[in-house]
Amino acid sequence: MAASQEGRVSDLKQTTVKRTYLESIQTFDILLANGWIIDGTGAARRRGDVGIVGDRIAAIGELRAQGASAKQTIDAAGKVIAPGFIDTHGHDDLMFVERPDLEWKTSQGVTTVIVGNCGVSAAPRPLIGNTAAALALLGQTELFDSYHAYFQQLERLDPMINVASLVGHANLRLAAMKNPLARPTSDELARMRQLLEEALEAGVAGMSTGLAYEPGCMAEREELLALASVAARQGALHTSHIRNEGDEVVAAVDEVLELGAASGCATIISHHKCLMPRNWGGSETTLRNVDRARESGQAVAMDVYPYNASSTILIADRAELIDDIKITWSTPHPECGGRYLADIAAEWGCGRKEAAERLSPAGAIYFAMDEADVQRVLAHPCCMVGSDGLPNDANPHPRLWGSFTRVLGNYVRRCRLLSLEEAISKMTALPASVFGLADRGTLRAGAFADVVIFDPDIVEDRADWDHPTLRSVGIEHVFINGTSVFPEPPSRRPGRVLKRHQQRRAT
Ligand SMILES: [Zn+2]
Repeated sequence: MAASQEGRVSDLKQTTVKRTYLESIQTFDILLANGWIIDGTGAARRRGDVGIVGDRIAAIGELRAQGASAKQTIDAAGKVIAPGFIDTHGHDDLMFVERPDLEWKTSQGVTTVIVGNCGVSAAPRPLIGNTAAALALLGQTELFDSYHAYFQQLERLDPMINVASLVGHANLRLAAMKNPLARPTSDELARMRQLLEEALEAGVAGMSTGLAYEPGCMAEREELLALASVAARQGALHTSHIRNEGDEVVAAVDEVLELGAASGCATIISHHKCLMPRNWGGSETTLRNVDRARESGQAVAMDVYPYNASSTILIADRAELIDDIKITWSTPHPECGGRYLADIAAEWGCGRKEAAERLSPAGAIYFAMDEADVQRVLAHPCCMVGSDGLPNDANPHPRLWGSFTRVLGNYVRRCRLLSLEEAISKMTALPASVFGLADRGTLRAGAFADVVIFDPDIVEDRADWDHPTLRSVGIEHVFINGTSVFPEPPSRRPGRVLKRHQQRRAT
């Protein structure tokens, strides 16, 4: 795997740095002692200590044996010391303002999140009168005029965890087009390109599209190619909630792969899945096509959440196609949150589709995925972990609180789908490399001290369909930029806004 090779090379380079640090600093601020160090590169675990000074890792090795001391020592015997997890797919954009403790992240070891996914983001703000149902996923706070303004606000508030953002394509349409459900005029397309350039200038990692939602679903190839080309020119990414994850999933994956080939833009397929029983097994084809694109030199990656049910806004057209649909929230009928659509329809004496229409705007969980597809996607070498968590939901999909610990508990320990080293690499070095996050995602001297300590024998998710906001177990300590954020929240939040031009492309 490329990430692990890079990791080993940089480890060698860092040896010199490590010695220099050790010679000058015998006292660390924090010493994580005697743990199993899994550095994120995919390399096998080794026993040792991690010394932190300020916001960086100063040294890794047999530090205590060499006489090092520290203001604070944490005994990590029998525990794993790993880089903090990177959630590649978040919808926490406005939560940094509304609920800044982000406990659903820190309690499962997440130290960085990429927000602005699925075409919807905190900026730019729609023209007056324009809106889109998918924006309701984000929260109540008014959207921001620009990424410059959003990032400034985040920095003013001190984010709890590190955050990078994508700009949503729906936002570009809503902010540029008089009728966002139409085809853009050439002036409107020029305005969208300008807004994208401004967001890239402010530091977003790229553009996300939500081609299954209005208004993104109205976009045709010419528009998407024009925008992806703007992103490609700046070395930024295109991530996509593809046009269809059901009957047309193969064509929908091919559509974004082709856009990547034609524009030269790196492509990430979001929360990859195949919905509804008749499409189960489809990931064999989609992954083959992803492999073919990668073999031809295209930069392609994916993210997945480790569950066989999905969640988004309630879509009435799905009501008759999927048997098990659980309502997560409803504006006209908040009392129906947490109940199944079929039960509500029976009580109301109407069809499921009519019940869905009466409940809307609403959110839902759809039980319509095959476990074999989930595992095939998760195990793919270019697949990262992304929670797709929806913190604004009253009864959220449990992926919000449990995605990362579920990979470690269920897919490493119970199913043995992945080794611990592989799983951690998918949550750390791989996403840091794909998103170009400098000095994050690996444990090495000189890197930022984003670190998680967990017990590999008991770590697992506790949030489930009936208790979706239960905290995970087995996460013992989490550090972000050298500051402890879990189990106790810090007096000052230590996260940073990670802007693209301040990072380096690691790939
Ligand atoms: Zn999505």
